[in-house]
Amino acid sequence: MKRTIGTGLRIWSRKGAAWPVQLLIRAGMNVVFGLPRGLMVEPSQGCTGGCRGCKPALNPGALTPELLVAWLECRPAKPVTIHFSGKHSDPLASPFLKDLALISRNCASMISLSTIGLGFRPTHETLPFDRWLFSLPAASRDSWMALRGHDRLDEVLDAVRRVHRRGSSMVELVLTIWKQSEGDLEAFNTLAAREGIRCTKTVFGRYDPDGYHIGRVENLALTAPGSPYELNGDGCLVLRRTPFGCPLAGSLFLSAEGVLRPCPFTGNEAPYEPNPTRDGWDTAKSWTVLKRQRRFQACRFCI
Ligand code: SF4
Repeated sequence: MKRTIGTGLRIWSRKGAAWPVQLLIRAGMNVVFGLPRGLMVEPSQGCTGGCRGCKPALNPGALTPELLVAWLECRPAKPVTIHFSGKHSDPLASPFLKDLALISRNCASMISLSTIGLGFRPTHETLPFDRWLFSLPAASRDSWMALRGHDRLDEVLDAVRRVHRRGSSMVELVLTIWKQSEGDLEAFNTLAAREGIRCTKTVFGRYDPDGYHIGRVENLALTAPGSPYELNGDGCLVLRRTPFGCPLAGSLFLSAEGVLRPCPFTGNEAPYEPNPTRDGWDTAKSWTVLKRQRRFQACRFCI
């Protein structure tokens, strides 16, 4: 909450006196129409990570600007926040990132992006995001190499510096704790201090039942203090304690295919809306209760 308020105050100072009024009106309209205030958008199915053992999509799809506009135009209330993110993918792989960002900026009060920071192209730092979240899988070269099979830490740090230097966006560094990087906290804090980044966060790596490289059981920091997972007596991975509610109850997810889903983790078993219509948004309202009750298959491992 403190972080959100801090972000809000920074954006307010840049966007002028009317910004909080517009934000409150948007938030109120979403309450009136029963919609979550946020929208997560997956710009591309492609990934810029190139991790050892991971097979990225050969012909990754990308969300077109036209499809994003179509979904936003039929939404009964504009979202308060739009957050660009990926699922086995990274927003920086999108050929339409600039257009998607400009469209989002005009439809939401705050726009942000989570990225692994690889594949940064010239002018990416000029994109109008209010907040950039760079997600590091490790903070030392050895652990990076052990986890990903290559060392591209310098490449990410170069991207961080390019955005941070402009001073127009809030920059946050996130360390994801995996088995290979569970001892990296000190290195992470040192790195953040050296780069002058004050907003930092550590999170545990998420188990990925789909079996992609990073989220496999062998990469989880199961014995680290505070690990959300453990192996039960049968050797099956389980949550130590089921968290209360849904971490993404306040948003819906628009995939790179242009399909509206409850969150990035629910698969085809879960409800989805394939076409941009007002009815689609109306149907999606009912998903919030299901999310809070953690009723989907994917919720079994969600932290
Ligand atoms: S998997 Fe379930 S608990 Fe996790 S974000 Fe999705 S709906 Fe929420």
